[in-house]
Amino acid sequence: MMGEKTGPQNNWLYSGFRWLPAKEALSAQKKRARILKELSGSLRYHFSGSKISTGRLSPGCTICGNGRWSCLFVNGLCTANCFYCPQDRSIKEERAPFCQEGLRFDSPDEYVIFLQKFGFRGVGFSGGESLLAFKTAARFIKKIREAFKHNIYLWLYTNGKLIDSSKLRRLRQLGLNEIRFNISADNYNLKPVALAARFIDTVTVEIPAIPEDYDKALKSIRQMQESGVKFLNLHQLSTTKYNYKNFLAREYTFLRQPHLPVLESEITALSLLKYAADARLRLPVHYCSCSYQCRFQEAGLRKRSAMLAAAGWEEITPAGFIRSISLRGAPAGLEKIAAALKHRRLPVLLNATAASAELFFSSAALKHIHPAAKDIIIRYLKPFLSETASVSDKDVTEIALGAKRKLFIKKELAAKYAGITPQRFRDFRRLINGGPAAKQKARLPAWIKWERLNEGLPAID
Ligand code: SF4
Repeated sequence: MMGEKTGPQNNWLYSGFRWLPAKEALSAQKKRARILKELSGSLRYHFSGSKISTGRLSPGCTICGNGRWSCLFVNGLCTANCFYCPQDRSIKEERAPFCQEGLRFDSPDEYVIFLQKFGFRGVGFSGGESLLAFKTAARFIKKIREAFKHNIYLWLYTNGKLIDSSKLRRLRQLGLNEIRFNISADNYNLKPVALAARFIDTVTVEIPAIPEDYDKALKSIRQMQESGVKFLNLHQLSTTKYNYKNFLAREYTFLRQPHLPVLESEITALSLLKYAADARLRLPVHYCSCSYQCRFQEAGLRKRSAMLAAAGWEEITPAGFIRSISLRGAPAGLEKIAAALKHRRLPVLLNATAASAELFFSSAALKHIHPAAKDIIIRYLKPFLSETASVSDKDVTEIALGAKRKLFIKKELAAKYAGITPQRFRDFRRLINGGPAAKQKARLPAWIKWERLNEGLPAID
């Protein structure tokens, strides 16, 4: 899929990887299509078809898809050593909590302000094993619940090995909404899960779809409903420099997409979904693909920053990038256009020197000024968070997290298009006005990825 390819840019990617030969890709594609067809009457599609399920999603998953979820890794150590662990398991020392944007948060107060300013409505507490840092997790949960009351959904990930009644009671008192168990880290042990169901409103099992564990997972699914599990989330295995050797030993097939998903894991997840649908289980099962994670989770983060950093004449695309439209020309002409747009109360920015000028405006202005396509410049900017900013940084938005800490949102140029043909400009206008993307895809190969997220599961290749 366009914009979702990956290449051997990481030095740990080497020739030992088994990539999918074209013939096998075709047969895997057919196999997936057959399973999906067999499931067609029982499936629900979410978030442009990149997430599929046999029933409703947990509130936490819905918040994640809507881009309003923050993940706080409260610690780094773990009680398990899963072969698929994406993290560095050789670490020996505990570390301070940090969120998925890579920002450290020693203080729950600063994290609360961060959540408020960026408009988050859900937090997942993860690790390592989060219960190894129970006091830290409890401190953050308490502060967040006090600040947001019922306007935030909180859940915690655990492998279950350290669960006991007193921790669960405390988590309930603190207002934890959901607890998610990775039971594959503990040989599919459902005892901690059943215990948690006595204390916490929503108990979810969230496991990677491991091809070799298919039978164990199948057997476990049958027992989950009786254990009080409300949702089963199946993840696609993805590859990092910490787990790739184990994946090579298992002779997995790697797909050429971001996060290097494992083909066999997707087929395993879909087969488990099919089992749940055929058995008409009440337990909703959902498949969280790598493509979903890299499209919606990453777009969500971009959108949260873009909303704070976009200027009045800039717009945020559904893919979470900042769209900036401008017109280059003689200063006198652009000054006149700027005045006319201001008169209509449309936001503009005129950058002018004696010799040339560039006028920035929102897409709403296009119908008033009818510019020639060739004079238009379209830029897409990617917003990102930084702990620091220097005087040479242009266009930086400062966010204060209390009296002692500041964050900065910077904008990185992702793409710039100039010298646009009239046909392409018409296509562009249709696209930003919500026109059908599919028909225009052939004519807008470069632009569409900044505007729209890809739909459906990506092609297998
Ligand atoms: S339980 Fe999670 S953090 Fe711990 S080793 Fe397994 S995958 Fe890694």
